[in-house]
Amino acid sequence: MTTKLAMPLKQRKQGMLENVMRQFDNAANIINLNGNIRKILEVTNNEFVVHFPVRMDNGEVTIFTGYRVQHNNALGPYKGGLRYHPTVDIDAARALAMWMTWKTSLAGLPYGGAKGGIQLDPSKYSKAELERITRRFTYALGDNIGPELDIPAPDVNTNPQTMAWILDTYMSTKSPAERSTNMHVVTGKPIGAGGSEGRDRATGYGVFLTIKFWANSNNISLKGKKFIVQGFGNVGYWAAHFMEKEGALLTGVQDAFGTIYNENGISVENLLEYTKGNNGSIQNFKGSIGIENSDFFGLDCDICIPAALGNQITAENASKIRAYLIAEGANGPTDVEAEKILLEKGIDIIPDILCNSGGVIGSYFEWLQNRNGEIWQLEEVLTKLEKKMKESFTKVMEVSKEKKVDMRTAAFIIAIQRLEEAYVQRGIFP
Ligand code: GLU
Repeated sequence: MTTKLAMPLKQRKQGMLENVMRQFDNAANIINLNGNIRKILEVTNNEFVVHFPVRMDNGEVTIFTGYRVQHNNALGPYKGGLRYHPTVDIDAARALAMWMTWKTSLAGLPYGGAKGGIQLDPSKYSKAELERITRRFTYALGDNIGPELDIPAPDVNTNPQTMAWILDTYMSTKSPAERSTNMHVVTGKPIGAGGSEGRDRATGYGVFLTIKFWANSNNISLKGKKFIVQGFGNVGYWAAHFMEKEGALLTGVQDAFGTIYNENGISVENLLEYTKGNNGSIQNFKGSIGIENSDFFGLDCDICIPAALGNQITAENASKIRAYLIAEGANGPTDVEAEKILLEKGIDIIPDILCNSGGVIGSYFEWLQNRNGEIWQLEEVLTKLEKKMKESFTKVMEVSKEKKVDMRTAAFIIAIQRLEEAYVQRGIFP
């Protein structure tokens, strides 16, 4: 039940897709991107929509819809996460796949961009059901994913366990000789199942590093600076962990269940412990007060880290933001209209494709280790990650100054130019 659609992205503008297209257009116009290459990058290469049945714990069968969109592979195999969320649809997958292409290109990785997932609310299913859903989805994707073709990873509501199920299912469909050579079909695996040291914290650590680089270049110390985080999942938690270690103060957190605040600081580790015994929710955490969700972005702080979903900072709430720096741990959290307002107010934005690129860089290290039969220590992974993030950050700042553009536009320019060069050199078949 696999369908391939060849829908030009421009005909389906809405939400995150409209956002990424406008970001792309803006940068492409500035560099006067070759018209033919522009046509190629405006569309996705392949789109898979799969409907598959899964038996629930009560014996009933439910049909799920899964997506995998492969945007571009000019620089290497498709790469990007799988998310389990009610907002997953074809347009969300297209937008997120496109962001992955820019992210991997900017990071200088030998990868293209892809994204996918299943439209569901995982909190409504048991662990056994999620395992069967994941395995059946993997089976439905079949050989449309692969270690040298398209390599999924965790994203919103998926985790190392999800990746281990995908790996096991994918391998089970291969001949015995192929099994041990396919470990790198997914990244973000548990360490015992071929994962890498440091991949768990790679995205959040990268978010922190870009904030630190930004602070250094502005002669600001992070000690005592107040920050707020939207989303307390893998990215939000690790970013907050490293910020706290640097002496910054977490004052506000929002997750899917509510918003908490403490002007004197919320202990990141205590909050993590609390969420574990509270169904993953931050709500009613003792060292804080609960506030209205709509008051989150208006909280008094220096740095705001959106690390949840897309389109969170909009024209409606952008003018309330008091932070002077926004670090985009999430993909597409700031829409184009909001960005205009923020830039006008002099607020800097470290764009998603730079800010959260530590995740896919960590994935690249895992993929390399699997491919080469190597095992790296945590220190080595984090040192290499820092080096790569620093290179990207420096390049973005240089282009931003040289072309007098904001950091997002600079990041897009670098990413697009690398792809442009590849297409110019290779030409178009036949
Ligand atoms: N889901 C993450 C992202 O949006 C990681 C992707 C990957 O590691 O392939 O960048």
